Amino acid sequence: PNPKYDLVVIGAGAAGLMCAGLAAKKDIKTLIIDHNPKPGRKIIISGGGRCNFTNLNIQPDRYLSQNPRFCISALKRYTQHDFIKLVKSHSLTFHEKTLGQLFCDQKSHAILAILQEECRSKHVDTHYQCEVSEVRKLDNGFELTTSNGKVFTQKLVIASGGLSMPKIGATNFAYKIAKQFELNLIPTRPGLVPFTLSGEKLELAKSLAGVAIEAKVSLNKKTSFRENILFTHRGISGPAILQISSYWQESQPVFFNFLPDENPEEFINELRKTRAKENLDQVLKSYLPKKFIELFLRAPQKPMAQLSKVEINKIKEMLFQCSITPSGTEGYRTAEVTLGGLDTRELSSKSMEVQKVPGLYFIGESVDVTGWLGGYNFQWAWSSASACIENIQH
Ligand code: FAD
Repeated sequence: PNPKYDLVVIGAGAAGLMCAGLAAKKDIKTLIIDHNPKPGRKIIISGGGRCNFTNLNIQPDRYLSQNPRFCISALKRYTQHDFIKLVKSHSLTFHEKTLGQLFCDQKSHAILAILQEECRSKHVDTHYQCEVSEVRKLDNGFELTTSNGKVFTQKLVIASGGLSMPKIGATNFAYKIAKQFELNLIPTRPGLVPFTLSGEKLELAKSLAGVAIEAKVSLNKKTSFRENILFTHRGISGPAILQISSYWQESQPVFFNFLPDENPEEFINELRKTRAKENLDQVLKSYLPKKFIELFLRAPQKPMAQLSKVEINKIKEMLFQCSITPSGTEGYRTAEVTLGGLDTRELSSKSMEVQKVPGLYFIGESVDVTGWLGGYNFQWAWSSASACIENIQH
C-alpha cells in the first residue's frame, strides 16, 4: 500500500522546515519533500551567509501585498520574539546589525541546523531530490505522484517559495498548483533586486563600481528609504535600492538625495559664504567620495562665489533631487524575493488554508506577502508556517 501521512509539506525551505518542525511537536505524521538534494539552500546564502533571521521591528506595514491586512494575524500570533526564543533555546548567539536586523554570530548553517533539529522525530520523514509530478484531490485528502512513488496525505502544505534564484532551485510549482485548483494569482515580479541602467548612466555606474554612499532614495513623498546605495557594473544596488525596487514600476524615475542631513538652501548658501574661494569639488570632499564628486557631479571648476544661479540650481538638483530612471532590474536571477503570488483572498488568514479547498495550505513566499529587506521575509515564513500548524489537529 502507498504510504499515508497526516501532512505532506512540499518545499524544504524556511517556511516548509518550520512547518514540519512544528508538526513534529504535535506528533503529526509528516513528510517533507524537496526537489533539491539538500534542504534550505536559500537560508544558507541568506544575509551574506549570516542569515538575518528576523527583525525587532516587525510591523504589518513593512509587508507589500494587494491585501495589506492579511499578514497581521499570523505575525501577531508567532512573533519575532517567539523565533528569538527558539534560537536561544538552541544556544545560538546573535546581534543586531542595524535597523532592528538580527543576524546570527554563527554561520547561517546554524539556523538551518535548528530547523532540521526541530524536524527530527519519528513522525517526520524527508524525501529530498524528489519531484512531484501530480497532485490529485480525493474525497478525504490528496494523492501525490512523486519520483519516489505515490503518497497519500490528508493535508497538503505548499511551501515551495517564489521564482527568485532559479539557479538554487526556485520553480513555479506553487503557482501551478494554484492554477490547477483555479485559485487567483497576483502577477509576480522580482523584488529586493538591483536596478540596471543603460547608455551614459550605465557607463557612469561602471566607472563608479564599488563606490557606496548613504542616500535617501525615493519614488514619491510616501515611499523612501535611507540607507547605502552601491554603484555596480550593471547599474545600482545596495540596501536602499533593494528596498525601493519592491515599490518601483517600470519606467518610473527614482530620486536621490545624496546629502539627506542637509537643507539644500542653507547648505549651499553657507558654503558660498564660508568657503567662497574654493571649488565645489574641494568643499564636497568632506561629505562625499572623491570619485563620485568628480565623475558624477562634474561641477564647474570655479570658486563657489562665482557660480551662477543656473549653475547653483543645477548643483542643488544633482545633490538633493537627482532623478535616475532605471532601465529595469536584474530580474529573478538575483532578486531576493518574488512579489505577488497566491492571492491571499483565497486563504484564511487564521490558518493559511485555501477557503475553497479544505486541507490545502499555502505558506511563505508563495503567497502574495512580501517583506522589506532586513529579516522580514524569514519572519513571514516562520509566522505563516506556525499559523498553519496551529490549526491542524492531530
Ligand atoms: P524557500 O526558502 O525559497 O524554499 C522553497 C523550497 O521549495 C526550496 O527548498 C526549493 O528547493 C523547494 N522547491 C521549489 N520548487 C519545488 C518543486 N517543484 N518541487 C519540490 N520542491 C521545490 N530573507 C530574510 O528575511 N533575511 C535574509 O537575510 C535574507 N537573505 C536572502 C538572501 C538571498 C540571496 C535570497 C535569494 C533571499 C534572501 N531572503 C532573506 C529571502 C528569504 O530567503 C525568502 O523569503 C525565504 O527563504 C522564503 O521562504 P520559503 O520557505 O517560502 O521559500
